Amino acid sequence: MSMLEKFERIKLGHFPTPIEHLKNITKYLGGPNIFIKRDDCTGLATGGNKTRKLEFLIPDAIKNKAELVVTVGAVQSNHARQTAAACTLMGLKCLIILEQRVKDPPEAYMNSGNVFLNKLYGADIKICPKNENFLEYYEKTIKDLKAKGTNVYFIPGGGSNPIGSMGYVECLNEIIKENDKYNFSHIVHATGSSGTQAGLLAGRKYFNCNIPVIGICIRYDKTIQIDKVYMEAKKSCELLQCNILDKSEVVVYDEYIGPGYGEPSDEMIEATKLLAKKEGILLDPVYSGKAFAGLIGLVKKKQFTKKDNVLFIHTGGSASLSAYEWAF
Ligand SMILES: *Cc1c(COP(=O)(O)O)cnc(C)c1O
Repeated sequence: MSMLEKFERIKLGHFPTPIEHLKNITKYLGGPNIFIKRDDCTGLATGGNKTRKLEFLIPDAIKNKAELVVTVGAVQSNHARQTAAACTLMGLKCLIILEQRVKDPPEAYMNSGNVFLNKLYGADIKICPKNENFLEYYEKTIKDLKAKGTNVYFIPGGGSNPIGSMGYVECLNEIIKENDKYNFSHIVHATGSSGTQAGLLAGRKYFNCNIPVIGICIRYDKTIQIDKVYMEAKKSCELLQCNILDKSEVVVYDEYIGPGYGEPSDEMIEATKLLAKKEGILLDPVYSGKAFAGLIGLVKKKQFTKKDNVLFIHTGGSASLSAYEWAF
């Protein structure tokens, strides 16, 4: 049995996700051949990249006899939504603690999109007041719950820890299995809490794969993000007992964040409209819209040749579009 198979996994989504050719976008941009891996179609709760991580995290919660799963994120967290759905499916209680990161959001941002869906899935929601320190707030909440005797299983923001990252080791496995057909030159995706890129990079070591993985950052400066991804990927390699990656393998661009996390940017709006109109595919304002804007930016800067086959991993998030109508 391989190391990866030693981790308990439950089926929460539709895998493997399809890979499709974006032929209209490819033609429009006149650059490399662009393909898309539809991790927005994982099935659970309108889909997204957190489903892969939860397939490994939820069995760990069950193994630890959790009575309550607690997780954290921004108000429009896609991770929170998928966790709420996974918990209700597995008969676990779920508490979501949300951080207000967007400056002056309209009411729709606070109540529609993912927030509405969290409620449909029956999760409890707490919103940290703006004037409080988020880390202290949620740590105190968890401490109080534990003091009352509740067995809490904590899932960090974005499900990003070495167990969650196994979901993206598995994703790379799916890509490799089909790569004879495509011969991908690059993989591009949005990087936030870092588990997605960490899993893909650990997977490169585990499966001996050389396809470069480019993270388009949506929150932090490049130097901070590279450290975060590297640390997470290193821990994942250790867990998989494979060679440790070199820090130079972590490639991150931070030019496409715009005004800040969750704040709309012109490039994001342009990319989201373009994919909707040319391919009928919905991106999202916080992650995949900015990541695709990054991919367009890199094509324009001639970072790829016309012969390259670039795979964009669509990490999901369109559930938040209705909460962002004001931005369009
Ligand atoms: C969480 C998320 C990401 C970022 O993945 P990380 O593993 O947190 O880096 C990208 N896209 C969407 C839609 C997400 O919800």
